[in-house]
Amino acid sequence: IVAHDLSPADASQIQLERIKGFVTDRGGKDSHTSIVAKSLNIPAVLGLGTATIEVKNDDILIVDGSTGTMIINPDEDTLFDYEDRMSRYEDYRAGLLRESHLPAVTRDDVSFNLMANIELVEEIVAAKDYGASDIGLFRTEFLYLDLKRFPTEDELLCKYKELVELMSPNGVTIRTLDINGDKVNPYLTAIEEANPSLGLRAVRFCLENEDIFITQLKAILRAAAFGNIKLLIPMISCVEEIIQVKQVIGKAIIELEQEDKIFNKDIPLGAMIEIPSAVMMAEQLADHVDFFSIGTNDLIQYTMAIDRRNRRVAHLYQALNPAVLKLIKLTYDAARAKNIDLVMCGEMAGEPINIPVLVGMGLSNFSMNSVSIPAVKKLIRNIDTKHAKQVFEKIMTMTNAKEITDTILDEYSDILPLGTTDKKS
Ligand code: PEP
Ligand code: MG
Repeated sequence: IVAHDLSPADASQIQLERIKGFVTDRGGKDSHTSIVAKSLNIPAVLGLGTATIEVKNDDILIVDGSTGTMIINPDEDTLFDYEDRMSRYEDYRAGLLRESHLPAVTRDDVSFNLMANIELVEEIVAAKDYGASDIGLFRTEFLYLDLKRFPTEDELLCKYKELVELMSPNGVTIRTLDINGDKVNPYLTAIEEANPSLGLRAVRFCLENEDIFITQLKAILRAAAFGNIKLLIPMISCVEEIIQVKQVIGKAIIELEQEDKIFNKDIPLGAMIEIPSAVMMAEQLADHVDFFSIGTNDLIQYTMAIDRRNRRVAHLYQALNPAVLKLIKLTYDAARAKNIDLVMCGEMAGEPINIPVLVGMGLSNFSMNSVSIPAVKKLIRNIDTKHAKQVFEKIMTMTNAKEITDTILDEYSDILPLGTTDKKS
């Protein structure tokens, strides 16, 4: 597919078996469309600017998702070269998969929890094959986008129940609706926003539309009677919001009681930490929740003030920027001080180059696109946490992402997976 733009909803409906790859004029590597492409194992390059003008019907294309390049009508040598690269990559992936069920334990015997981010219930089989222990993030908005209307409580319950039962006895973290931003709801286009990422997105939308929120909360609480569920709230920006959310949960519980429905209200409540204001108030937020989940896709976007879909500013989308690392460290310190659990569920946790840094900082729960789990697990099995801590202390004195990236590449050149050096900035 060569398209001007492809929404996350379009991407989630792609007929996997028929599509070899896609390129778009608009979009960026950390957009939701890109995340969906990764989970579906489809090579994709987004934000090429003029792809739809340059590519003609019947052209032969090479789509290299690992470096973000597209080659139109390659010569024979390039084609052979890429065929060779593809088969080496496939061998490498097959090797990783063979080891994906080994435990995620470092060389010095420290255990890690590697979980999967999924968008569709159908991804569970792949998540288990890739060695995920739990579902650390279930993005619920795709059901709303696919249906093209608001689902009913029973429809939601049916999906969530299927999900928890398939994962049982392991857990599922269900995140409440994160609509708008780049996941614009086609049946809710009443008000166009100039800056959708800064607009009425996620929990802001839910608190404005309490009936829609209560319907989803009731379905989640009912599904929790069938398995191990955690409830996660996206885009929390201040303490009042989480207090308001708890009041709405209280209303959902009263309705369920009045309707005499079976449910479980004793489930952990978490806040996503993906806005710098939430980081700065993390200790106070921790008094109201049972766990934090750091959403680095948005945390980087809002910290660096760049749109995660805009390729023109993609050079500033830096997970290893010292400002981003300091915010993550503050969140980690707050969670520790208040003795609550901490997970990282943004794409940052699935990029091998970031893992030594996060391990060195002290994080131990990572949720990621499930295709990334085997490579991250292999890396963790080769890391020594004491050494990672020393490297972490050294990089925290550095002032830019390039210096940090180069240090990690040098320190870990022998254990970082194939292709990591391509990303050297
Ligand atoms: C994030 O922001 O890091 C995250 C996990 O949520 P999403 O990508 O759905 O915004
Ligand atoms: Mg987010």
